[in-house]
Amino acid sequence: MRLAITGAAGFIGSNFVYYMAEKHPDYDFILIDKLTYAASERGYSWENLQMFEEDYRFRFVTADINDKEAMYDALYMCNAVVNFAAESHVGRAMVNGERHILSNDLGAVTVAEVACAYSSRFLHVSTDEVYGDILEGSFREDIQFNPRNRYAGSKAAAEMNLRPFIYPPHNLDLVITRSANNFGKFQSQEKFVHVIAECIAKNRPIPIHGEGKEIREWLWVEDNCAAIDLILHEGKKGEAYNISSHQEVSNLDLAKLAVKHFGGKIKFVPNRPGNDRRYSIDTRKIDRLGWKPRATGKNFEKVMLECMGYYIQKYQKV
Ligand code: NAD
Repeated sequence: MRLAITGAAGFIGSNFVYYMAEKHPDYDFILIDKLTYAASERGYSWENLQMFEEDYRFRFVTADINDKEAMYDALYMCNAVVNFAAESHVGRAMVNGERHILSNDLGAVTVAEVACAYSSRFLHVSTDEVYGDILEGSFREDIQFNPRNRYAGSKAAAEMNLRPFIYPPHNLDLVITRSANNFGKFQSQEKFVHVIAECIAKNRPIPIHGEGKEIREWLWVEDNCAAIDLILHEGKKGEAYNISSHQEVSNLDLAKLAVKHFGGKIKFVPNRPGNDRRYSIDTRKIDRLGWKPRATGKNFEKVMLECMGYYIQKYQKV
């Protein structure tokens, strides 16, 4: 199989490359990324994937997914493409959301058009944020979208604009994943787990927006990679799949967990406008495919603390 991965230098993309390289040693990989500030932990580079640079199975393509000519070149003879490429920062979208529309919506459509031309399977990575927040219960895949920030709006728009491709004359072999909040190594510096670790390492208080009561479902990135691999191979054309391990933790409790184990202090700062209160998704559909997350229950805490420790150590070395 020749597999193209867009947004490969980013957080989940990098982890997915490592996962697939080990799981499928017979695959060839085309790694595509524009190398924005979010590429690799320190931005603008392929640093996360340096170890594959000399490996003949990997081709690196530095390009914008909106560059259709570059996509025709990159995706040539690919059996499948997994589209992670996106402007993924919610805070940045609130200030300037235009780039989010360009990369997340129009970019996804460009990749879909090229995947159609080559009859490649197209796995589009979407998000649970398309559903909006929910105070009780969990969203199933067939519920109406209610995006509540401009990042989520651009991801919801992409899903709407990709859907017509499954019908004639395009007949795109499309599958979609909508995952919960990921944590793990290779995340850029602006995301919460990374922020917590940096504050602890540099003896700064951890900023908590508002009262820190906002609840997120935390999914270990390696569990997400296993789910994406499963859906890439077993997912039904035209279907979307929620991915979550149901580890609900408020932002304050996550910071407290870090302080309890590594020391440090918490500082309350004004809340972000439009900070969604709780996300929760129903995963019965992917459960039926046989997916089982590993970072749950007691193991969730262990993996989360290992992840924080990984970032703290990095900062202490600087
Ligand atoms: P990230 O910001 O770490 O990485 C995104 C990568 O895409 C970066 O390397 C960036 O350089 C690249 N990119 C951006 N625009 C591009 C463009 N126009 N052309 C080519 N490359 C471009 O994001 P992430 O956290 O790894 O998220 C990956 C995907 O997963 C995104 O689509 C995001 O919406 C989705 N997602 C993320 C989470 C999460 O918790 N991180 C949760 C649910 C869904």
